[in-house]
Amino acid sequence: MKGVVVLGATGSVGRSTLDVLARHPDRFRVIALTANRDVDAMAAACRAHRPQLAVMADPAAAQALAAALPAGLGVEVAAGAPALAAAAADPRAELVMAAIVGGAGLVPTMAAVQAGRQVLLANKEALVMAGGLMIEAARRSGASLLPIDSEHNAIFQCLPRGEAGVDVGSAAGVAKITLTASGGPFRDWPAARIATAGPAAACAHPTWQMGRKISVDSASLMNKGLETIEAHWLFGLPPARIDVVVHPQSVVHSLVSYVDGSVLAQLGNPDMRTPIAHALGYPERLANGVEALDLCRIGRLDFEPPDEARFPCLRLARQAMASPAAAVVLNAANEVAVGAFLEERLDFPGIADCVAATLDAVDAAAPASLDEVRELDHIARQRALELIPRRGR
Ligand code: NAD
Ligand code: MG
Repeated sequence: MKGVVVLGATGSVGRSTLDVLARHPDRFRVIALTANRDVDAMAAACRAHRPQLAVMADPAAAQALAAALPAGLGVEVAAGAPALAAAAADPRAELVMAAIVGGAGLVPTMAAVQAGRQVLLANKEALVMAGGLMIEAARRSGASLLPIDSEHNAIFQCLPRGEAGVDVGSAAGVAKITLTASGGPFRDWPAARIATAGPAAACAHPTWQMGRKISVDSASLMNKGLETIEAHWLFGLPPARIDVVVHPQSVVHSLVSYVDGSVLAQLGNPDMRTPIAHALGYPERLANGVEALDLCRIGRLDFEPPDEARFPCLRLARQAMASPAAAVVLNAANEVAVGAFLEERLDFPGIADCVAATLDAVDAAAPASLDEVRELDHIARQRALELIPRRGR
């Protein structure tokens, strides 16, 4: 029986994780669940999975949760950032699903890594912000990082077994890796139409059901930029050996090209329960309720290059990955800009404009500690916020 903590249990990845866990009650025991403030969803998850601990980041939500849960359920309720980090490092768990969205996941994800857990990493923003520190912390603590992002999980499945952050590829004859991108809902829209898109259109992803932030990132291709940085840290590869190709069907989840011309790919229906089950069971395979892939029904698989003119966020991310400080600034500005877009305070092209302007405005040395990452993140968020109204949107 393995103990599991799910950080971000009420989100899209969190709910898919609980779905897979519930199919294997003989293998997994839910130790702790965490969420931000969605009391109803957390109460339902607690009733269904009976964790020993439930943490809400928001103290008022924790109070409401405690009142909503029957006393006999035996769930301890806690609140706030220290409780979140403590849940991530709970000694009763071996596996930690890191599925909080955005920079809010940095400290809890790092707590799980420092505690030497097997960390199932969905929270790509944490790695973008602090990849070098996190890989180093994993090396020190003995933590393993298993990728949950479908592309990185695919590459992990196609590479020889290795350690996160170590270039296993070169020794094994890997020439390059290729991340696939669906292209998002605006893939075939002209720039003028993209400029008029609102939150509903941006969140209407053609192939994946996801949280709102990553849905907007997929629409802008910033998601693929963040994933390029994520791949750099996870697989120890330089940017020049990480390609991106647009593949609208989202069936080929990513590819590894070897020096002899062989290309290995992982295919499957777009359902996050596949990478989640792979990482939960690793190195064993677990059934997960995912529909079998029917290639004849899909009929064709298309590929095209990404268009950086209509989707400048991909280029901005590739530029930012040259410097760990710039990656922090990029991520912070993007989170602020996406938040403003979702609240209709910024138009869609304003996201890339805000990120570019913040990158120009904030210059910093590479952060040497988690505190320095958080400080730079804070500065960049402030700057991005200032740049949004000033642009008159
Ligand atoms: P989501 O918005 O659906 O869920 C986010 C979760 O984080 C929720 O449980 C929420 O309560 C929690 N949370 C939000 N803010 C918080 C805060 N300040 N403090 C504590 N908890 C907080 O997001 P999602 O789509 O599940 O994505 C989660 C992560 O996984 C993201 O980093 C995303 O990029 C990555 N990811 C998601 C998918 C997907 O299919 N949804 C695929 C690949 C990677
Ligand atoms: Mg992905």
